[in-house]
Amino acid sequence: MLGLQGKVAFVFGVASEDSIAWGICKSLAEAGVTLYLGYQKRFMSRVFKLKDELDAIDGFYPLDVIEDETTAEFFSAFAKDHPGVKADILIHAIGFAPRGCFDRPVIFVEDQDLNTALTVSAHSLQRCVRHALPYLNPNSSTITLTYAASTRFVPSYGVMSIAKASLESWTRELACHLGPEGHRINAISSGPIATLAAGGIPGFSKILDHVEANSPLRRNVNPNDIGGCAVWLASQLSSGVTGQIIHVDAGYSVTMVPESIM
Ligand code: NAD
Repeated sequence: MLGLQGKVAFVFGVASEDSIAWGICKSLAEAGVTLYLGYQKRFMSRVFKLKDELDAIDGFYPLDVIEDETTAEFFSAFAKDHPGVKADILIHAIGFAPRGCFDRPVIFVEDQDLNTALTVSAHSLQRCVRHALPYLNPNSSTITLTYAASTRFVPSYGVMSIAKASLESWTRELACHLGPEGHRINAISSGPIATLAAGGIPGFSKILDHVEANSPLRRNVNPNDIGGCAVWLASQLSSGVTGQIIHVDAGYSVTMVPESIM
């Protein structure tokens, strides 16, 4: 019913076994998808430790989205090893903001830090999709990862809120641009999950505690929850869905006043 058996995915954003992208890899593998991972060199040893855990992984190639050329290198390396192979799914689970984005109030964040955060965490979606297009089959599905701070204030998230707002805008723009050719692009808005990237956000563990106590499901989500939604978005079951921001957050985003204050 899913129709994912034999499909191929590019997965960007695995840094450790805690990565949301790793949860997505496991779910896609279970659905029969062959995976090609793009990893950042600084996480190479961590990523290579995972290599033998999923038979579905058929290749790893370095990827750094900070520059156009380093993004293109992933695809040329992939094409050299797998001539003629095309993918049906692109997972963009990439986010980064330099320390300077969190060390000071947003109004004092320096241009260089702001630019890095926006380039890597938001504009890289455009870059990845553009370079991927020659290697994507018709009716492909691209999935990116966002956070509800794109539309609401979350203390200490700072510049990443602005990056996520931009990423969501890219999701809509790219969905409208590529929709006529059948390609779909959606974003999963994940609830907080303890990962390497999340560890850089001051007070993150307090956010986890708050969401667990106050979300409708009274728990935090985990990478498997995100993986389940990613499988749906990758499959033909979601064939009419594009340009959307889909919350997988134990329902937290529908709440406003926490019940705990009553
Ligand atoms: P993670 O640290 O496991 O993954 C972040 C990934 O981004 C890493 O694999 C890293 O290599 C990659 N990355 C950073 N800079 C890069 C660059 N220049 N080039 C290529 N790759 C680069 O953390 P995660 O929480 O799994 O993050 C995945 C995505 O999920 C991010 O977009 C993050 O903002 C988003 N997200 C996370 C949470 C959460 O609470 N963890 C919530 C909502 C959304």
